[in-house]
Amino acid sequence: MLSIDTLGADPSYRPKLLLADDDEVSLMLIAVALRERGFDVVEAGSGERALQLLTERPVDAVVLDAMMPGRDGFETCRALRAMPGHERVPVLMLTGLDDNASISRAFDAGADDFFVKSHQWSLLAGRLHYLLRAAQTRQELERSKSKLARAQDLARMGSFDWRRSSTRNAGHFVLSPEGLRVFGLPPHGEMSLHRLLRMVPEDERHGLIEMLDEVVRTSSVVARDVSVTVVDGRQRIVHVEAEPEFNDSGYCVGYTGIVQDVTDRRVAEDRIRHLANFDALTGLPNRRQLMWRAERSLDAARRSGHQVALLMIDIDRFKVINDTLGHVAGDDLLIEVARRLRACVRHSDQVIEGTLESQGSRSHRTLEAVGRLGGDEFVALLPEVGGEADAERVAQRMLDATRDPIFVGGQECFVTASVGIALYPRDGATVADLMRNSDVAMYSVKSAGRNARALYTPHLAGRGREKLELESALHKAIERDELVLHYQPMIDVRAARMVGVEALMRWNRNGALVAPVDFIPLAEETGLIVPLSEWALREAARQAKAWQVSFGFSDPVAVNLPNRLFERSDLVEHIHQAASHYGVPHRAIKLEITETGLMRDLQNVIPSLHRLNEIGVEIAIDDFGTGYSSLAYLTTLPISEVKIDRSFVRDLGITPQSSAVVTAIIALARSLGLRVVAEGVENLRQMEVLHRLGCGVMQGYLFSRPIPPDDLEAWLKNTILPRRAPWIGQAGALDAAAEARANTLGR
Ligand code: C2E
Ligand code: CA
Ligand code: CA
Repeated sequence: MLSIDTLGADPSYRPKLLLADDDEVSLMLIAVALRERGFDVVEAGSGERALQLLTERPVDAVVLDAMMPGRDGFETCRALRAMPGHERVPVLMLTGLDDNASISRAFDAGADDFFVKSHQWSLLAGRLHYLLRAAQTRQELERSKSKLARAQDLARMGSFDWRRSSTRNAGHFVLSPEGLRVFGLPPHGEMSLHRLLRMVPEDERHGLIEMLDEVVRTSSVVARDVSVTVVDGRQRIVHVEAEPEFNDSGYCVGYTGIVQDVTDRRVAEDRIRHLANFDALTGLPNRRQLMWRAERSLDAARRSGHQVALLMIDIDRFKVINDTLGHVAGDDLLIEVARRLRACVRHSDQVIEGTLESQGSRSHRTLEAVGRLGGDEFVALLPEVGGEADAERVAQRMLDATRDPIFVGGQECFVTASVGIALYPRDGATVADLMRNSDVAMYSVKSAGRNARALYTPHLAGRGREKLELESALHKAIERDELVLHYQPMIDVRAARMVGVEALMRWNRNGALVAPVDFIPLAEETGLIVPLSEWALREAARQAKAWQVSFGFSDPVAVNLPNRLFERSDLVEHIHQAASHYGVPHRAIKLEITETGLMRDLQNVIPSLHRLNEIGVEIAIDDFGTGYSSLAYLTTLPISEVKIDRSFVRDLGITPQSSAVVTAIIALARSLGLRVVAEGVENLRQMEVLHRLGCGVMQGYLFSRPIPPDDLEAWLKNTILPRRAPWIGQAGALDAAAEARANTLGR
């Protein structure tokens, strides 16, 4: 009956009718009358013919004359109803006047309506229209019903109806076919309330029955998940929701409701809850879950007045392990560490939000756990401790547990950890305070050499806070132009000439100059050293140009760079840009890299050294002698200068070792064709010894402290050019003495 759809939608649509009548005149008259009234009529002279036409094309309604020879209207109607697809096509029977028997026979045969043959064609047409509309409505209803059934099926949902009964105490229970399917039954299967209750596991059944009794007694609403074992033995969770129905006198006569298989949803919800509360890698409670447990622990501690401990655990040098062995091995390592740590406490995974209060006064102990905050950071929560000794004992157990070798990535790894401990209420009243303070304690372990535990003390926090403040202020230092370079001249002692300057950074913080020892290490730790160094390179180039313009300065300016800058492939480009931007040659910039920095990352640094060398930027090795590097190795590197570390210069003439080291460095550097610079020269005796050993270039307070750029010209005018400084006379004397010695020997 496809065409019925269009009945309502399209006013120009002409419904198709099949009209069967053996009386030719009557057939013609009715057909004409109906066509005039908007119908499309197909005529059939007999019942057989009508049935045959029906198989050929669908129609919207059928009009049959009851009285026909052969197959009469009733039989035709019955046969028609038996044809597939025609169970519901509207059939109108034409009967004789007041033929009551025919009317009821017509309905028995499956007709929908009758019309007493007359000439009131408009009436007939009206009846037909009404029939068609009713058929359409019914079809729509059925369609939406089947849609609903399908939707319910998809949602694994069905409906039920329960009526109180005075004869049966379980009442009268009916489940829709979709509902039957929820319980694993076929659409026409049998289901009683008894049978349903038997599907519920025994230990839950009694409670459920009690609940249902209570609900019915109070006529309240039901909404509850019930676990059932369905017909094929599967365990399912069925959600039951029902509302009471009342009769006119307000008496509850029964319930209607739905049943829905929510197993998959509950499983998904459990999974989501798990994901939200547990770390995917290690399966340990995550930060959120841990904070929640900690909050509950503090609640309990506040009530009963006991102490709580929070342990912050951080794996030492995890980044190194991760970088060398790869992330897969790193993950394996974290999993193993997690396993060991959790074995050190009475760890319980089973904390379901909201159920705690009902478990009695000791229930806070089930909160005890090890969780992972992320990365290589773990936290242990001890919801009740007698004191710091308890917490320290657990911390020690954890340190011991991590120390056993771990086999990952095809090799044995030795892992250590640092643990910081904070106690409630002593070290903090809130979870946030305890987290922060255990973290501070943990960092104090790190800076004291790792692989140990420490209790929080207020004295530690001061340091931590200072460091934080320093870090944020340093961030802003560049933007605010608070950094300055001071310059310390390097002197060729024999010629009494300045041969270069070293740029040394200072931070003008709130009017006071902060020394590099107080912020360079932090800058290296946080990565700020990169922008800081880039600034220094540009500033040095700018200053070189300014001096060149003001007094003809043409020496190199040495800039200190950490090794991590040498690892950057854009270093060369950066220097080139700084130099060309200010219009100075590449050689106007010299770079200093410390010996230890150089040796630590030799392979990553060498390419930059070569490229810098190619563009004419000289490189000096700073703090030389402290790194115990093989001096012969230096021959392979494109460097031009070594700076003897201050510590050797300081002890010159005091300890014999220092002069031995200095002698060796100078001898070797000379044989390699490297310039040697001695730094930290503070007095004439040091200068004298160095000079005697063959070191000609020096730097130190004896000549000048590092000075602001505007003072350099004045310094030159006042000391070097007038050859007025005391060391100049001394150097001259040295030369004279040496000459005299040489002459004596020569004679
Ligand atoms: P450094 O590169 O060894 O610099 C020489 C340090 O020795 C400077 O300390 C300088 O003031 C000091 N000094 C110079 N002559 C004497 C002397 O006769 N006696 C004594 N006792 N000290 C002397 P400063 O300026 O405090 O710098 C300390 C360190 O900070 C530098 O050691 C360097 O490693 C680092 N640094 C300074 N500026 C920068 C920079 O711009 N970037 C980087 N990465 N590091 C820098
Ligand atoms: Ca230096
Ligand atoms: Ca140095």
